[in-house]
Amino acid sequence: MGEFEHKCLNCSSTSEDRPLIVCEFKGKENWVCVRCLPILIHG
Ligand SMILES: [Zn+2]
Repeated sequence: MGEFEHKCLNCSSTSEDRPLIVCEFKGKENWVCVRCLPILIHG
């Protein structure tokens, strides 16, 4: 089960904690939680 668990690349929150959004960066799939998404957008 654990290997299918996605984590926020910034704060390691799982979808148990917050909604996660998938994004592609440099050809790789990354998961980011809704709290960290604005941080990543604004750099
Ligand atoms: Zn996060």
